[in-house]
Amino acid sequence: MYRDTWMSVDLDAIADNVKVTKEICGKKYIAVLKADAYGCGDSHVARAVIEAGADMLAVSSLDEAVMLRNEGFHEKILILGPVNADDVDVLIRYGISTAAYSMEFIKAAAAKGCKGLLVHLAVDTGMNRIGFKTKKDLKEAFDLLQQAGAVIEGIFTHFYRSDDFDHVVTNQQYAKFKDAVTSLNYPFEWIHCDNSDATIFFKDDLSNACRVGITLYGISPYKKDLKKAISLYTRVSMTKTVKAGEEIGYGGTYTTKKDEIIATIPIGYADGFIRANQGRHVYIDGQMCEIVGRVCMDQCMVRLDHDVPAGTLVEIFGPHIDLEDMAADLHTISYEIICLISGRVTRKYIWHGQEYDEDNPRLSLSSAK
Ligand SMILES: *Cc1c(COP(=O)(O)O)cnc(C)c1O
Repeated sequence: MYRDTWMSVDLDAIADNVKVTKEICGKKYIAVLKADAYGCGDSHVARAVIEAGADMLAVSSLDEAVMLRNEGFHEKILILGPVNADDVDVLIRYGISTAAYSMEFIKAAAAKGCKGLLVHLAVDTGMNRIGFKTKKDLKEAFDLLQQAGAVIEGIFTHFYRSDDFDHVVTNQQYAKFKDAVTSLNYPFEWIHCDNSDATIFFKDDLSNACRVGITLYGISPYKKDLKKAISLYTRVSMTKTVKAGEEIGYGGTYTTKKDEIIATIPIGYADGFIRANQGRHVYIDGQMCEIVGRVCMDQCMVRLDHDVPAGTLVEIFGPHIDLEDMAADLHTISYEIICLISGRVTRKYIWHGQEYDEDNPRLSLSSAK
């Protein structure tokens, strides 16, 4: 890595958060590593969560599951989202479990032949995303899958308002889920409904596994003493003093009010640092520095109180700027900010106290002519 812009992922902190939340949950532990582990690098995070005691990995698509298998992860992997019935042979060959998410999918999978397919029945208890809404449909799906020789190893639902502090909707969803599960009267090996938030606050006597995503990284509205695992940094490229009345950046959206010290930093919207960050602040050498002018594709400019040398560390979020505050500023959620950090930003890991960079074979100089 030559560019001074990186995302730091502390796998030791993640492992710690697994241990703490597994203790709170007291059940089997499914680590949700979809979307490249929320942008953190799924194979790296997978190693850490497995070592810390995760019993299963969950992803969103067959592509994500196959990539993990191909990287040597032999643990149980569950796909939480839709797959094409055409691909059931791949699921069976790779021993990947999948959500049985619609009648159309089940019928097409059965027609294609799904003997040995590992499935978790998806129950729609109100989100209206995937799954079966009525007990009648659920039973029909269950019977069809059994006749087709699928292995029904689990059943699950997903809470869509677990960040409501009154839990009214979550309680309603849970009651529906419990009713659906008991109606089938079947010894499911995996019964799961609790996402990160519910794992912390919701105690139920039905499920035997929790499904944790965002809280792996220490982010939780319900538990504030977890370890923050992700931060984003860059370094000052150059600084200069700009005379009063000059414009900064594309469109001239900022004009200096007096002689101002302006630093250029190498991060822009192609890194996932979106243009809406204009007017927010980054942390440099003890100062909160306003992002002035438009954020460019690869760079942006910030205003300093005191000058600093090129190479000075810039924190985008981390110990001084909370990711959740940044998300609030941008009218979004922390999930979206970290998922948007693009592949161009090097991931630097801390594991077992050692630092290492993600491998990028395309940066190797050995083959350069
Ligand atoms: C993303 C997702 C999760 C994890 O949610 P967090 O809020 O990150 O814990 C769990 N279950 C399903 C079905 C999901 O889609």
